[in-house]
Amino acid sequence: MSETFTSVPQDEAGFHERERLSFDLDADICVIGAGLAGLSIALEAVRFGASVAVLEGRHVGWNASGNQLGTVMPGFALPLTDLIERIGFEDARELWTLSKAGAEFVRANATEENMPGIGLSDGVLEVSNVDVGDRLISRLQMLNEDFDTEVEGWQVDRVRAVLKTDRYFHGIHYPRAFQVDGRKYVHGLAALARRAGARIFEDTPVVSIDHSGIRKRIVTPSARLRATHIVLAGNIHLGAPLRRLSETLLPVWRYAGITAPLGERVHEIVAFKGSVLDSDGIDHFRIVDGDRLMWASPETTWAARPQRFAGAVSRRIRTIFPQLGNVEITDTFGGATGQTVHGMPQIGQLRKGLWVASGFGRQGMNISAMAGQMIARSILWGDERWRLFSPFELVWAGGTTGRVAGQLVGIWGRASSAAAGSLARYRERARVKDREREARLAEANRAAGTGPRRLPPGVRPRPAPPPRAAAQDAEPVSHEDSVSQ
Ligand SMILES: Cc1cc2nc3c(=O)[nH]c(=O)nc-3n(C[C@H](O)[C@H](O)[C@H](O)COP(=O)(O)OP(=O)(O)OC[C@H]3O[C@@H](n4cnc5c(N)ncnc54)[C@H](O)[C@@H]3O)c2cc1C
Repeated sequence: MSETFTSVPQDEAGFHERERLSFDLDADICVIGAGLAGLSIALEAVRFGASVAVLEGRHVGWNASGNQLGTVMPGFALPLTDLIERIGFEDARELWTLSKAGAEFVRANATEENMPGIGLSDGVLEVSNVDVGDRLISRLQMLNEDFDTEVEGWQVDRVRAVLKTDRYFHGIHYPRAFQVDGRKYVHGLAALARRAGARIFEDTPVVSIDHSGIRKRIVTPSARLRATHIVLAGNIHLGAPLRRLSETLLPVWRYAGITAPLGERVHEIVAFKGSVLDSDGIDHFRIVDGDRLMWASPETTWAARPQRFAGAVSRRIRTIFPQLGNVEITDTFGGATGQTVHGMPQIGQLRKGLWVASGFGRQGMNISAMAGQMIARSILWGDERWRLFSPFELVWAGGTTGRVAGQLVGIWGRASSAAAGSLARYRERARVKDREREARLAEANRAAGTGPRRLPPGVRPRPAPPPRAAAQDAEPVSHEDSVSQ
């Protein structure tokens, strides 16, 4: 990961001096990786009384965890209907409930008292790029009634009243979902874990592990550690300690930018206060610092400097909100997410005392918290619920070929989403034109009914057509509209 990523400077946020592991150490649990996953596990386990050492190769939040938007929602990347199909309704419901508990773990930690300036605010809007009114109703029913999740369906007009674009149609509003300052949260988590007694060693890459005995050995360049449990929370960068595990993840780098201040006009165009995500997972944005847009969208399957994507973010904003014109991007950041082949995270015990928590994709906030709760409770209380993830095996992600395929699938996915969006907008325009035509026809019929019509010689009058419902529903037609026909 490039050190040029914008991340919160450690001293500015009142953080600690970095400590490197330079002496041999014993602990109950050794966590590899100080991202959201590793730190959530460390915090939960240390609160339950375990001794925990976290080993981080670079620094806290170095990768995605310190370079993300901080939106916290229930659920997983895998659509709920697919989850039910795969593991059945009861288990899907239990996993969903656990994912909500993960979100509540974040909410409980991200208080202003624990993390000054974390800026928690409620409400997330998921918008569709296509007109899916019918599907929306069944999804709302399922979430509300079967999955006990507070959601509200928004009609197209309501969505467009708060987001001035014809790109979005219906929406699902999650009033209990929320957002925090994503780049601060991971540092706040580290501070909480430290305060609770966890030891976090940075600049300490793990180069190998021996997980065969009861006491497992962890080797770093300058010291060794022994622990009863090892948790692999290194995401795509885990590397040498268990390379085969890294190969089960498809790395996808995602980039975001923040605009220069846009002034009052941005509130007229983006009046929704929380985060907005589209249902195809392409755009994700919200207003920050009063009048700036924070926007994530471009993705690659290779590492690149986020600065390179400032233009792409600006163009994407112009595509969705052309009224904003060319916006200047003053800050860029990004990181690598690990995506699994099946879309579900990797959470569980690989062999006795060897645990894994990774593969959170674009939705790491709630799921890494859930992983932290599950793994800490499994280790310390014997909670076996991690087995709910057993149907989702560690599937090889295809190596370099997989990355190339992933990039192509990503491009194809974006292109087909764009095509579906264009089609939906075309259909919408066609419907409006149809209604206008019907209205003009009805008007002509009414006019014809008001007096005798002169017909050309030899033409017999036709019977009047029955009244048409569409004509009654028609929107008023302005002169300009009829001229443009
Ligand atoms: C631009 C962007 C926006 C996002 N927005 C959101 C959002 O709004 N909401 C949301 O829920 N999710 C979001 N995500 C996704 C989320 O950030 C990730 O899913 C999550 O951060 C993954 O956390 P992690 O702990 O698994 O991995 P990482 O953040 O990658 O942390 C793993 C750590 O392990 C360390 N490590 C690896 N190997 C070793 C080793 N051998 N020895 C020692 N240390 C090692 C690495 O240095 C790294 O620091 C976003 C991601 C990006 C990139």
